[in-house]
Amino acid sequence: MENDSANYKERLRQLPSVDRLLLKSKNVVSQYGHQVVTLALRDTLQECREHIIAGETSVPDEESIKQAAELKLRDRAAASLRRVFNLTGTVLHTNLGRAILPEEAIDAINAVASGYSNLEFDLESGKRGDRESHVESLICELTGAEAATAVNNNAAAVLLVLNTLAMNREVPVSRGELVEIGGSFRIPEVMERAGCKLIEVGATNRTHLQDYRAAINDRTALLMKVHTSNYKIEGFTKEVTETELADLATEFKIPFAMDLGSGSLIDLAEFGIPAEPTAADVIRHGADIVTFSGDKLLGGPQSGLIAGRADLIDQIKANPLKRALRLDKMTLAGIAAVLKLYRNPDTLCQKLPTLRYLTRPQTELRDLAARITPALSAVLDERFRVDILDSASQVGSGSLPSETIASTAIGIRSANSGEDVSRALSSAFRNLPTPVIGHVHKGSLLLDLRCLDDEERFVSQLSSLQV
Ligand SMILES: *Cc1c(COP(=O)(O)O)cnc(C)c1O
Repeated sequence: MENDSANYKERLRQLPSVDRLLLKSKNVVSQYGHQVVTLALRDTLQECREHIIAGETSVPDEESIKQAAELKLRDRAAASLRRVFNLTGTVLHTNLGRAILPEEAIDAINAVASGYSNLEFDLESGKRGDRESHVESLICELTGAEAATAVNNNAAAVLLVLNTLAMNREVPVSRGELVEIGGSFRIPEVMERAGCKLIEVGATNRTHLQDYRAAINDRTALLMKVHTSNYKIEGFTKEVTETELADLATEFKIPFAMDLGSGSLIDLAEFGIPAEPTAADVIRHGADIVTFSGDKLLGGPQSGLIAGRADLIDQIKANPLKRALRLDKMTLAGIAAVLKLYRNPDTLCQKLPTLRYLTRPQTELRDLAARITPALSAVLDERFRVDILDSASQVGSGSLPSETIASTAIGIRSANSGEDVSRALSSAFRNLPTPVIGHVHKGSLLLDLRCLDDEERFVSQLSSLQV
């Protein structure tokens, strides 16, 4: 016992000092700086000490300590938030960053990020301007609304609308529309935080106009309808239309607000994609306010757009909460550029990545699969089977939940029919320099090709695959 403890103390003494290692790490110091290298060496030495105390009998040499420290430095220098390949088949994947921006938006963001801008400065009068003026007229043009504003996301848009127009008052909402989005946004909870009282009307599957009428009293602030974008109630159902609700709201001289969620600016049916209601439809049907996300079907940066009656938008803009929820200059530049693309529907499909991915024909995906499958087979040895399969893509972000788009995937599984290697495969693909995210289905790793647009980068990194 005594011998052992004496030995480990001797081994600890054999470890080099931080100063000694630093002297021999000139290259690394010039790359990362003295301070972080010292820290990495200190942490590495501490780990060595802990291993020795726990019973490790060999003492690492200087070179291996330096190498371990260098690995730490590389890890610490790497960005945590980085590019991945989204081969999940879900085009608007919330966990993978939703919409991919068009070049026009990236250029616009670059311009305002790298220089001063007229963010809140009116170039004509030389006086202070309004930051949302850069998007307001575009939103109005594309939705037919009188006025508009924009905030951090659609959750913020709903919160702001309710807090402005319904604080300390009642809002009747259909029981079938009390949705939860992504686990952290539930309509009833947002209403509570906005300071208004939810009055549930109707039943989960059926709500009638009479249910709303019966709920209206002098405490009612507005009528609200929520587009149930992420689920569908089927069977014996009834919902009250936007037009009916708009008429009822007019009768009682209260506003009618619609939370459209994803919401599109154009009729997607024209592009062969199952249609979602457009913001313009909702305004035309008589809604006084409509709210929708900027980074769902619209295909822009994260934001929440609010369009509607000018007097209501004025009140919303004047709410002090607005300042807390406002957009930054980069997002504003990005949205403005995306909205401008909508002015020319003929080129939208090529220019807007979200729409380009959603409309990519299966024949193109099959050709792509045929081109890259040989490269995959070459790096995966005979333990694996690689097949080209028909698959089904989804729009994602709660849009069009029951509709899928015919797609093509590469399926990889064990050559041994009983063996499930999908977890090992998923992890190997996630560990590539640009991580590849697929999805597992019945023991196979499926790589849906709908959102793969950098074929060269995908193929060139396959040589690093370790499975
Ligand atoms: C997605 C969604 C929201 C939340 O929008 P974010 O932009 O993610 O904040 C709110 N309401 C509905 C109906 C939605 O579909």
